[in-house]
Amino acid sequence: MTNVGPNKTAFVSGASRGIGLACARALAETGVHVVLAARDALKLEEASRGIPNSTWVTIDLSSADSIKEAFAKAGKIDILVNNAAVTKDGLALRMKKDDWDSVISTNLTGAFLAIQQVLQHMMKARWGRIINISSVVGESGNPGQANYVASKAGLIGLTKSLAQEMASRNITVNAVAPGFIETDMTAVLSQEVKDNIIGHIPLKRFGRAEDVAAAVRFLASEEAGYITGAVLNVNGGMYM
Ligand code: NAP
Repeated sequence: MTNVGPNKTAFVSGASRGIGLACARALAETGVHVVLAARDALKLEEASRGIPNSTWVTIDLSSADSIKEAFAKAGKIDILVNNAAVTKDGLALRMKKDDWDSVISTNLTGAFLAIQQVLQHMMKARWGRIINISSVVGESGNPGQANYVASKAGLIGLTKSLAQEMASRNITVNAVAPGFIETDMTAVLSQEVKDNIIGHIPLKRFGRAEDVAAAVRFLASEEAGYITGAVLNVNGGMYM
């Protein structure tokens, strides 16, 4: 079992389902206290009931006030997993500014503001782990997703800059870039699109939320203490 260390608290955004929920479970298994966060209180309550050693708090990452409130309720955070994200796909030519703004605001600005809420405690404790969930498309680009891809590429830049700013305080900052993972986000794809995608994945399958959670748990661990500024691909080899 990966050693994350006793008496630590992790905050996982977007933890009501999918990859975030799997990350919350994986971290809780190591003995860490986990705070699950998302917008829907009912779903959070249900998710948290299934994870011993967890609590939950509502957060809307598109709102600076909501972010402040949620972290004030959550208390001191040692491990932050910025996982929540939304998509509003469309070709750039016709993309509405609102669709650009809302995706950047939730996925990138929300992650940045969440980081600002946890840095002071981590700096004081001289220990911290920040893990930003990016995406394979943040590295490769993807037509029809200019807003989402910009947010995910932005998270990689944020990760590398912050890793350099925070290294002297023993705070590591890394990104995980999942490929295509079976969750609600990809359930909307037609079978034809899915078959086409699998054709481009060397490991010939979609990933599972648990595949991503294992990488997050590792980056949160003591064993990963010398890794910072990295982008860990969990993509079946579809982008190298
Ligand atoms: P998902 O199933 O759509 O879940 C998204 C989570 O984020 C939910 O818990 C949702 O809960 C929460 N959320 C959405 N908007 C929010 C907001 N404004 N404030 C707070 N929470 C919000 O997504 P997923 O597939 O698990 O993806 C998780 C992460 O992995 C995302 O960063 C995604 O970009 C990344 N990723 C996924 C894939 C994939 O194939 N699935 C591939 C690459 C990267 P509420 O709606 O209740 O708020």
